[in-house]
Amino acid sequence: NGFTRRESCVLAVDVGTTSVRCHVYDQRANIRGSCTKKVSLLYPEPGRVEMDPEELWQGFVTVVKGAVQDSGLQMCQMTALGISTQRATFTTWDRQTGKTFHNFISWQDLRAAEMVRSWNSSCTMKAVHGVMKVLHVLTRQKRFLAASLVVFTPQHVSLRLAWALRNVPQLKQAVDEGTCLFGTIDTWLLYKLTKGKLASLLSVRTRSCSCCMCWSGFLCSLLSLPLSILPRVTSLILSFSLLMADQQAAMFGECCFDTGDVKITMGTGTFMDINTGNKPHTSVAGLYPLVGWKIGSEVVYLAEGNAAGTGTAIKWAQEIELFSDVKETDSMANSVKDSDGVCFVPSFSGLQAPLNDPKACAAFMGLKPSTTKSHLVRAILESIAFRNKQLFDVMLRETRIPIMKIRADGGVCTNDFIMQLTTDLLGRKISRPAHFDMSCLGAAFVAGLAVGKKRPIQCSGAEMMQTIFFIF
Ligand code: ADP
Repeated sequence: NGFTRRESCVLAVDVGTTSVRCHVYDQRANIRGSCTKKVSLLYPEPGRVEMDPEELWQGFVTVVKGAVQDSGLQMCQMTALGISTQRATFTTWDRQTGKTFHNFISWQDLRAAEMVRSWNSSCTMKAVHGVMKVLHVLTRQKRFLAASLVVFTPQHVSLRLAWALRNVPQLKQAVDEGTCLFGTIDTWLLYKLTKGKLASLLSVRTRSCSCCMCWSGFLCSLLSLPLSILPRVTSLILSFSLLMADQQAAMFGECCFDTGDVKITMGTGTFMDINTGNKPHTSVAGLYPLVGWKIGSEVVYLAEGNAAGTGTAIKWAQEIELFSDVKETDSMANSVKDSDGVCFVPSFSGLQAPLNDPKACAAFMGLKPSTTKSHLVRAILESIAFRNKQLFDVMLRETRIPIMKIRADGGVCTNDFIMQLTTDLLGRKISRPAHFDMSCLGAAFVAGLAVGKKRPIQCSGAEMMQTIFFIF
C-alpha cells in the first residue's frame, strides 16, 4: 500500500459503550487499518449495567492487533497510541494482584438511584444548598447559585462508588488494608498496559497537583469516599500512549479549537459540547463545565449538555422489532408525512439538562389505532433532534458565546433524518465528517502531538478540510 518501513503511523482506540474500535492513522490522518469488537454489556439485574474488565482488556488487545494487521504494517511503525474512553464507568481492584473486586459499573447503571434520591432530599444537601444560596445573595457570584442547584444523578460516579463500598465486602476490606485502587476505564487500561507499575504510582494521590485540578475533599468526606483509592489527577503522556476522555477527544478530533465551536456526538447518548475558551462555564441549567485539554500551559474548557437515551432508544426500538436494521429508520421516518401526533420521550435514564429529572420515564404519547411502526420510528428520531434543539438553546442562553462552527459525529449522526431535522431546528449549518469516529481521531491527534515534531498537514475529514498540526 505504498508504505516504506520508515513511515510511521499513530494508533487510536476508542472504548465506547457499543464497541471498542481501533484505527491506524497515517500522517495525513487517513485511516490505513481498522478493527472493531462489540462490547458485551451485562445486565445482572434490572437497572444494573456492567462490563467484564478482563473481557474489555482482551477486546482492547484484539482490536489493537487487528488494526495493525489490517493496515499491513508492523507494530514497530506505530509511533504513538491514543486512547479515548467512555467516562464515569469504573471498577476497583487490588493494587498487587490486579484482581478486580467487581465488574465495571457502567455510566448507564441505575443501582445508586435510591441513594441518589435520598441524598438529594437529605437535610445535609438542603443545608449545603442553603449555605450556597446565602453566599450567592452576599456575593452575587453565579458559581454559588449553580452549587445551590447541584443534585446527584445516577450518572455521577460518586454515589455508585459509595454503593460499591457499602455492598462489596472484599472491597471494604481492601480499603481498610490500603490495597485498593479505584479507576475509570482509562486508569484501568493504564494499569494493564504498564503491568501495574504506573497505577501504583498514581495511587499516591495529591491535592497539590500542578494545575489545581484535584479531587474535592469536601465531596469525598461528605460521601465517605476514601481519598486514598483515587488516582492522582495529572496530565498524562507516557512514552508511547496517551489517554483522553471520549467527548474531549471527539471535540479535538472535530477540530473545535476555537471559543464558540460546538460538537454534537450522538452515540449511545448525545453529548453536546461548546468550547468556552480559557474560562470554565458555571451553569445553573445543568451543563457540566469540563477541562477539554491542557497543552503546554494552556487549558481549554468545555461546557457539556447530554441526553442519555439516544442510541439506547434506537437499540430498544430495534429489539422490539420496529425495524430490523438501523439503516431502515431513515426511510421509515420519511415514508410518513409526520408522526401522526405521536411523541416519544427518550428518557430511559431520566432526562438531563435543562430538565434535570432523573426519575423521568420513557414514554410514547398520542398513540392512535392508526399509528404505524413508521410513525413510532419517526417519533423516536424526532425526539433525538428535539433534545438536540433543547440542549443547543440552553447552551446559547447560558454561555452567551457566539457560536462559530457546529460539527456532528457518533453512530447516530449517520442518520440523515435526524441530521436534517436538527439542522432545521437549530437553523445553522452542521458539518458531518465522512468518518464519524471522531473520538479515535482526536486521541490520535493528541497522541501524535505528544510524541513528535510539529508538521502542518491537511486533515482529511471529507467536507471538513482543516489545516492542523499533526505531529509524528
Ligand atoms: P458509542 O460510542 O456510545 O459506543 P456509537 O457512536 O458507536 O456509540 O453509535 C452507536 C449507536 O448508533 C447505536 O445505538 C446504533 O444503533 C446507532 N446507529 C448507527 N447507525 C445508525 C443509523 N443509521 N440511524 C440511527 N442510529 C444509528
